[in-house]
Amino acid sequence: MGQGSGRQERSKKLELATSETMKAEAHVQSDKEETEETKTRDQRLRLVVGMADLKNKAIGLYNIGQTCCLNSLLQVFLMNTHFTGILRRITVPPSDSQKRRSVPYQMLLLLEQMQHGKQKAVYPRALAYCLLEHRMKLFVQYDAAQLFLTLWNLVKKQMRNPELTEKLSDLYTIWVQEYMVCQECSFETKRNSNMITLPLSMLDSSSHLLKTLEDCLQYFFYPEELTGHNMCFCEHCGKKTPFLQSMKLAHLPQTLILHLKRFCFRKSASIHKLCHYLPFPQDLDFNAVLTTEQCQADASEKAAWQYELFAVVAHSGSTDCGHYCAYIRSLTEHKWYCFDDSEVCQVLWDDVRCTYGHSDLHWGQTAYLLVYMRKNHQ
Ligand code: ZN
Repeated sequence: MGQGSGRQERSKKLELATSETMKAEAHVQSDKEETEETKTRDQRLRLVVGMADLKNKAIGLYNIGQTCCLNSLLQVFLMNTHFTGILRRITVPPSDSQKRRSVPYQMLLLLEQMQHGKQKAVYPRALAYCLLEHRMKLFVQYDAAQLFLTLWNLVKKQMRNPELTEKLSDLYTIWVQEYMVCQECSFETKRNSNMITLPLSMLDSSSHLLKTLEDCLQYFFYPEELTGHNMCFCEHCGKKTPFLQSMKLAHLPQTLILHLKRFCFRKSASIHKLCHYLPFPQDLDFNAVLTTEQCQADASEKAAWQYELFAVVAHSGSTDCGHYCAYIRSLTEHKWYCFDDSEVCQVLWDDVRCTYGHSDLHWGQTAYLLVYMRKNHQ
C-alpha cells in the first residue's frame, strides 16, 4: 500500500465528489426558499469537498446533556477517512427542511466545523436536533453498540445515492455463512448472512470468563448445539429435532467493529456489567485466530484479514450511570488520541491498554467497542 496509490484513489473520489456537488448546486439554485446564509455554508462545504489533502484533526465535541456516547461514536465515524471519503460525496439536500433532517448532511457540516474552526471543541447541536427529528431521544444514556447501529442505518438510508450506499455497506459489512445440520438425519442447510458489528460474548456456554479477544472470536465461531426449547423443524424428519448450528467467516470489511458484550442479563433481569480483564491486540490476524473449518473464503480474501486497531469506545461506571469516551489512532498522523467530549489529548498505547478492564475496578474504563482497520487498503 504505497502512499502514491492512496493519493490516486483519493483524487478519483474527489473528481466524483465534485460532480455530485455540481448536481447539488443546480438543485440549490432552483430552490427559491434558499437563504443567503445556507448558500455561503454550501460554498464552504464545497471547499471541504475540494480540499486536496485532508488531515483529520483531533477536535473535541461539547457534551450537550448526556451526549458522551453520541460524541464518542461521531469521533469514530469522522476520524475514519474511509467513511468521510464517502460522506464528502453526498448530494446536498435541496431545501432547508431536508437539510435539517439529513443525518449525513449534518454530519458533513459538523466535520466542516471541526476542520475549519479554530476552537478546541464544537457543539454538535444541529446534528442532535436532526436526530431528534428521527425520534431519537436525547439527554438519555445510550448503549454505544445500539446507537452505532441506529446512526449507521440513518446515514445509509439517507444517502440516497445507490453507489454511495453500496460503498458504505462494503466499508462495514461482515459476511458469514450459517450452517444448520439436523442431528437425526444429517440434513444440512446453509445461508449467507451479514452483520455490521460482531457481537462477542465474554462468557462461554458454562459461563466461564473468556480470557482474550482471540478467545472471544474463536468462541463466536464454535458450533452450537440447539436442543430442548431451541430445537428446529427439520423438513426431512417432519418434526422438531436437535440441530448443530455453526458459522463460518466469509468476508471481513475495511472497518471492522467488534462489540464486547460486557452488559449481560442476570436471572433477576437486571443488567450486569462484566468489568473483567480482557486484552486485545493492536495487530490482529484472523488467519491465526480462526481454524480452517471456521472460514469459508478463498486465499485472496484471507490474505486481506490483517487488521490493526483503529479505535476503542470505552465505558466507565455502572450500567445506569456511566460515561463513554473514545480512543482513536489518527489514520494520518498515526498517533493515539483520547476524545473525552470537549477534552482531547494525545495518549500512548499504554493508556489505551488501561481499557482492558479489571474485575476489582468497577468505575474504571473498559473497552466496549473495538474498531479494527484492514491493513492492506489500496
Ligand atoms: Zn432431520
